[in-house]
Amino acid sequence: MLSIVVPCYNEEESILLFYKEMERVHQTINEAFEYIFVNDGSTDQTLSIIRELAKDDSEQVRYISFSRNFGKEAGLYAGLEAAKGDLITVMDVDLQDPPELLPQMIERVRTTDADCIGTRRISRDGEPPIRSFFARLFYKLINKIGDTEMVEGARDFRVMSRQMVDAVLELSEYNRFSKGIFSWVGFKTEYLEYENRERVAGNTSWSFWSLFNYSIDGIVNFSDTPLNIASFVGAFSCIASGIALIFIVVRALLFGDPTSGWPSLISVFLFVGGLQLLCLGIIGKYIGKIFLETKKRPIYIVKETEDTNKLNVLSSDDK
Ligand code: UDP
Ligand code: MG
Repeated sequence: MLSIVVPCYNEEESILLFYKEMERVHQTINEAFEYIFVNDGSTDQTLSIIRELAKDDSEQVRYISFSRNFGKEAGLYAGLEAAKGDLITVMDVDLQDPPELLPQMIERVRTTDADCIGTRRISRDGEPPIRSFFARLFYKLINKIGDTEMVEGARDFRVMSRQMVDAVLELSEYNRFSKGIFSWVGFKTEYLEYENRERVAGNTSWSFWSLFNYSIDGIVNFSDTPLNIASFVGAFSCIASGIALIFIVVRALLFGDPTSGWPSLISVFLFVGGLQLLCLGIIGKYIGKIFLETKKRPIYIVKETEDTNKLNVLSSDDK
């Protein structure tokens, strides 16, 4: 059986389109499906549409609804935990992950020794150019300074073996960065390539700033290089200013001490102050992560699933 984990946040327009498309593809493969829709605290009709779907197709459709918006990463984790299949896939509901790749992916994971068949966008058409530029920059940077390889353009859309998903679930950290986690657990992953798709309906929930913060998270979660840079910069400015000091003392002894250079003094002063704040900020970022991690808060809180749906329970009591 293939479990399909689908995080949804304000996706009322896409859900049924997604389900229809998936069922069309389903007809071409000989594999049982289990859909797990994760409603990530949507404020539109997403939950009631999923509820209806779970009622109409109770054989295949399950759902988990969060008490508020916990973010896509939490949705993925909840879905993976709930999945019962021996193969598990993760898909966006906006059809940006093409379902027609599924037959090929399932076939490859079943017949070759790969534990995971992932997908990679080889183009970013339809995306704002500035966003693509920073995305590329991010992959360059993280692959340089991190120990975990992140494949450029790789999507979360992947068919994984049960063994790999169990490994992913073992990493129960609060600060989740799935792209890194999928890569960190290892296992043999092969990539299928495809051209970028635009979403069928609705709008992306990612703004430029949320993506920027997400990439900082990725770096902080998978690399301690920024900390090393901070100490290096500190050591370097210490040595440089030591040399400058000797130079100034010697010059004052030889040529006297004309009072000048106030502007340059202030510039250096501000520059060093700025550097200190920057390094403190970097360290603070890591401490913030440690702080959140040590609280051991749950990654998500469930308000409703297909089993606990009050409306269902009420109506079956009536009968
Ligand atoms: N999503 C979610 N919680 C969030 C934001 C997004 O579950 O807080 C889901 C969203 O419904 C979609 C997937 O994550 O199924 C990818 O989101 P989106 O399409 O907005 O991102 P993009 O494809 O633009 O990177
Ligand atoms: Mg999308």
